[in-house]
Parts: sequence; C-alpha cells; structure tokens
Amino acid sequence: MQLKSLAVQKIMIAPIESFDPVAFRRCLHQYPELSHCEHRTAEMINQQLRQFGLTPRTGLGGHGTVVEFDSGKPGKTSLFRADFDALPIQEQADRPYASRQAGVMHACGHDGHTASLMAVAKHLSEHPPQSGRVLLLFQPAEETGAGAAAMLQDPWLAEQHIDSVFAYHNLPGYPLNTVLIKPNSFACASTGVTIELFGKTSHAAKPEDGLPPTAAMINTIELIQRLPLQFPEVFALTTVVHASLGETTNGEAAFGTAPGYAKVLATLRSDDSQTLVAMKSLIEQQISALCATEQLRSEISWQEWFNAAVNSQQHCQQVIEQARSLDLPVERLKEPMRWSEDMAEFLAQWPGALFCLGSGEHHPQLHNPDYDFPDTLIDTACNLFRALINDIHCGTHQAEHEGQ
Ligand SMILES: [Zn+2]
Ligand SMILES: [Zn+2]
Repeated sequence: MQLKSLAVQKIMIAPIESFDPVAFRRCLHQYPELSHCEHRTAEMINQQLRQFGLTPRTGLGGHGTVVEFDSGKPGKTSLFRADFDALPIQEQADRPYASRQAGVMHACGHDGHTASLMAVAKHLSEHPPQSGRVLLLFQPAEETGAGAAAMLQDPWLAEQHIDSVFAYHNLPGYPLNTVLIKPNSFACASTGVTIELFGKTSHAAKPEDGLPPTAAMINTIELIQRLPLQFPEVFALTTVVHASLGETTNGEAAFGTAPGYAKVLATLRSDDSQTLVAMKSLIEQQISALCATEQLRSEISWQEWFNAAVNSQQHCQQVIEQARSLDLPVERLKEPMRWSEDMAEFLAQWPGALFCLGSGEHHPQLHNPDYDFPDTLIDTACNLFRALINDIHCGTHQAEHEGQ
C-alpha cells in the first residue's frame, strides 16, 4: 500500500506551479480502476488536492471526495461533479500512456472529466469565490449507477443546501467543443433485469415427464420486446441482451436432457423514471402470471438501476449563456440521450444541469476499445465551469440582475 502511494506520488502528483491537467489525465488513464475499486485513483485525486493546499473530505460513499471553497460571505452554494471509475475493457491502442492494467481502461473519458475538475480546483485554490461556497465533488462508481447514491448516504453531504449542481460528459459523434443540452429529461432512466425460470428436467425422450420452461422463455422474450408498446406516450425501449435454456456440461449441450431451467436478461429504458417503475411492475406481474399457468417457479432480480437525469430550465439557460460568452457552439437537443448517468441522483436532490461536450464527429465511441478522451475538452470544460462560478460567485450574475 505504501509502496503504491510512493509510486503514484512519484509519477504524477505535481506542485501547484507545475500542475498540468493533461499530464494528470494521462496518468489517471494509465492506472484505471473498476467501479467500487478506485482506491488508487481516489488517492491520486486527494494527494493532488492537498498539493494545492486544500483539505478534501475523503471516503464519502466509498472512494468519493468533496473539496469545499468557502468565501466566508453569504451567497449561493454550487456543486460541480466529475466521475472517475473505468471499465472492464481491454484497451486496443498504441499510445505511451495506454492502460497498464490488463482488461481495464478509461473508455468513457472519466479520466478527462476528473482532470477538468482538478483544473477547476487549481484555479479556485488561487482565486477563491467571492461569495457563497463552491463544492467540487469527485465521484466513484458511475458505471454501475451506485456511486452518486452512495455518496448521498454521507450525512454531511446529504444535509448540504445546494442551489446549483453541474456536470458534463464528453460525447463522440458531435463536433468537438459543442455544448449539448436539454431541459427536463437529459439522460434516460434504465435498469437491467434477470429473469430465471425454474421447471424440472426429464429425459429428452420424455419431455412430458418434466417441466421444460421452453415456451415460457419464448413468451418472456416476446413480452419484453412488446413492453414499450404499452407506453406509447413516452420514450420506452427494451433490449434482450442474453438468453439461455437448458443444462450444459462444460459449455456442451446435454442432448439427453430436456431443459429444466431458462434465463433471460434484458435492459429496459425510458426518458421518465416513473415509466420505468411501471415497466418493472408489469414485467413482474406478467412473468408471475405466465409461470403460474406453466407451473414454473420464477426469480426476477433488478440490476444497475438509473433514474432519468432531469435538468432544470434555469440551469440549462445558465450553461447556454456561459457557453455563448466563451464562443462555444450550443446545440439544444430535442430528444434525451438514450444512455443513463447517475448524476440523476444529485439532480433529484438539488436543481442543476448535466450537459455534454462533443468529442469530435469521428471520434471513437464511448466504451470502444480504441476510445481516448480528447484532451482539448479539459480546457473547454474547465473554462465553462469557471464561467459559471464567476457568474454565480464573483458578482457578475448579481450585478447584471441588479442593473436591470
Ligand atoms: Zn460509460
Ligand atoms: Zn461515462
């Protein structure tokens, strides 16, 4: 443990005058860690913050960190959030700072989100807010949808009165530096579901002597695929991601045995969290009815639940105004993103906005093995966050409104 700390310090922790957010990002990229296992990443973040002379609150909801800048004067409280977990993907690229962890990589750009927020931390340590408080929050375990909720279990964080919460995600497929934003639902609610059907095996020559779940499995798949038709008013989508039937021995089919077990896995999503709740209870009811008819037993479990990320109109407007002040192109989206983001948990607690920054139209997609965060976005995001902070905490916002 100590050896690791020393190694990390030697590699990358820089004094404030020589801190380089791109070098910091690339170092995070070299040492990715999976959700819930981000010990070393959290340590890098905390040590770098301490190098800026700051005192981070650490270990929130696992490996989360919050650093607070208090002007000591009355005013608003704003929170800016970055995530820092990586993915179980083998990096396929020949770059000097490629992942040194086999089978794990920063394929979603959370290294870049964290480097952007660290650049904001450096700025604020030299130019603290003039009114109110600014909190910078570094969040683990975004990819599993558990990190934000776990941090909100922290009693200190839960009792904070936050007026504005902001975060961004980089997004390939859109022009570099373009701000993509939308009020109300910005990213979908989603959940994984595992449905297991238990019957009884029998000799393959006498399937009628057992309880094969074959027909029930086909019905389950059809039921899942038809589910969105019952919610025509909203965006609803289901994807069957895996199905298996029967017994195998070392991956080989048991030709002499009629199946006694089936499993179907699917992902459900909607732009409205309540619809997802309704989809969940419909599946439970319909599977239970199906199994009663077929005399099968079922077990249903739900994984990686994400609520929809809901933006406030006012905070979207603030982001748009500050993006324009920096001459960044802005695209107002008509449809929410189909993917999910657990920033939703913070947005359910406090008003704010999650937005995207385009990573380039032809940039490899998120979670691709050749993806790499575009370093240009570190400055773009840092400048946009700084503009929001200036607007809210350094008088410009107040002066403008008082002048009108
Ligand atoms: Zn991701
Ligand atoms: Zn991500």
